Amino acid sequence: MSLHMKAPDLARQLVDVGRGFYSRGWVMGTSGNFSAVLATRPLRLLITPSAAHKGRLSVRDLLQVDGDGRTVGRSAGKPSAETRLHLEIVKARGAGAVLHTHSVWSTILSERHRDRGGLTIEGLEMLKGLDGVTTHDHQEWVPILANDQDMGRLSSRLRGTLAGHSAAHAILLSGHGLYTWGRTVAEAERHIEILEFLFEVIGTRER
Ligand SMILES: [Zn+2]
Repeated sequence: MSLHMKAPDLARQLVDVGRGFYSRGWVMGTSGNFSAVLATRPLRLLITPSAAHKGRLSVRDLLQVDGDGRTVGRSAGKPSAETRLHLEIVKARGAGAVLHTHSVWSTILSERHRDRGGLTIEGLEMLKGLDGVTTHDHQEWVPILANDQDMGRLSSRLRGTLAGHSAAHAILLSGHGLYTWGRTVAEAERHIEILEFLFEVIGTRER
């Protein structure tokens, strides 16, 4: 399928994700960002623009970037400031979509568990919603990275964390939010829903 044929469909899926996540309170203000892979050779990513309200996106707002994060084609609008993080995840995991939310529970847990470098989720049925997990008897380690406004530094730390935790389905940035991914937009969306559920369970239990 050509890049042009895939773009409107993937753009529509990301717009729908934005509406759904906004209604759940996971991307308030202009927070969060989403991407989907249009092509792999060369890499082309469809990504939400910087400072866009994710509950009110339109298909036309989405931008295409190359493997270095440079805008391809239409140059109106600026790709998300966190584009480099999306590219690191796509390259490390072969993901087809990357979704990033700023929820209340991911913010709280990422601060509370920051000194341990991550948090373990175990023993819960909802873990089976993560790709490849077939039993509640599973330990999911979610690494937590210190937040950083320097995207070069943060993306290289992210690269190291992804390499060091090859089984991880997600990464938290402390005091900031959640990154997860999937082969498709639907799988990445499912991972966000599962993880946000699990974070709320753990956060409520720890109080
Ligand atoms: Zn963010």
